[in-house]
Amino acid sequence: MSQVRLDQVTKSFGSVAVIPPLDLVIADKEFVVLVGPSGCGKTTTLRMIAGLEQATSGEIRIGERDVTTLRPGLRNCSMVFQNYALYPHMTVAENIGYGMKVRGTPKEDINAAVANAARILNLGAYLNRKPSALSGGQRQRVAIGRAIVRQPDVFLFDEPLSNLDAKLRIEMRTEIKLLHRRLQTTIVYVTHDQVEAMTMADRVVVMNQGRIEQAADPITLYESPKNLFVAAFIGAPSMNFVEGRLEADGGGVVFRADGDVAITVPARMVKHLSAGIGQAVVLGIRPEHTMTADPAFPTIRVHVADIEPLGPHTLAIGKAGASAFTAQIHAASRVRPEDMIDVPIDPEKMHFFLKSTGEALR
Ligand code: ATP
Repeated sequence: MSQVRLDQVTKSFGSVAVIPPLDLVIADKEFVVLVGPSGCGKTTTLRMIAGLEQATSGEIRIGERDVTTLRPGLRNCSMVFQNYALYPHMTVAENIGYGMKVRGTPKEDINAAVANAARILNLGAYLNRKPSALSGGQRQRVAIGRAIVRQPDVFLFDEPLSNLDAKLRIEMRTEIKLLHRRLQTTIVYVTHDQVEAMTMADRVVVMNQGRIEQAADPITLYESPKNLFVAAFIGAPSMNFVEGRLEADGGGVVFRADGDVAITVPARMVKHLSAGIGQAVVLGIRPEHTMTADPAFPTIRVHVADIEPLGPHTLAIGKAGASAFTAQIHAASRVRPEDMIDVPIDPEKMHFFLKSTGEALR
């Protein structure tokens, strides 16, 4: 059992509190990704689990053990860093086996463990090379190999793919996921890249200013963001936001905004919106939900400033009233900068947030 449990964990550097009381339970064998903007406290949280940073207060447990004050070497976590941290004068095999050698493991056992890690990570052909003779992706695999041979209870990854080019990053994403499936070890993984988080995690923990905004599986985060922060952070390109008001209209509800925008809310949603009626709200709609030209759909008028052709479709970037707005349009569309277009909105895909609190109405 290698559940990781943080109970009311805080961290201050001097007088600056960077993590207010944080509760988080990572299940045995779960792949959890901590994601959030720079400085939100993801690395600090990971380092507290590793023991590289002492928690200021609270309790950290790994499995049955209280590790809060245990030194890093006794926690049985393996950490993989962004900069690989390989020993340049050692071969790949020596790098992978180094930790075992230091602990006095017999040579045959080290060789077997190194061979096993090399097989899993496809490094067999490189075992006698020095890190300087490897590509970035191969170096990162060596760093992962070094983590594997320790047979840790928990793998901790700190932005391991940041130094790789875009194509390699996508390949390594898949490799790490396969590794998790094969080893069945609990993984806590830190990244600032929401696509990485969404594609890799069983569960994504979205952090902001040391707090957890929402922790959920990727699809739940995408379909039901709890607040404006999560809605804006998850999804690329970002969700569009249009400020307006919700008004009762007969038995239904209408969203009204500047520029004669009047969108009747589908009946299914009305019961969730009662707290927002008569209030300033923010309508959220993702660019990918603005492309279906159903004649029954309401539209929002967008003044196009720029066109980004992406191949399968094109993005029209501009403004709806005073709000920035990006619409996904057909690749064959002849829309040009400075055009005014009426963008269809799929009413079933609308999100509403209270302007005063940023919380989703649902
Ligand atoms: P990034 O993606 O930029 O690495 P992060 O979310 O991992 O960001 P942390 O590195 O955990 O953020 O930092 C959280 C906050 O704590 C930041 O405001 C940072 O400046 C501060 N901080 C981190 N380490 C220290 C330290 N040793 N001394 C003082 N402040 C620190």
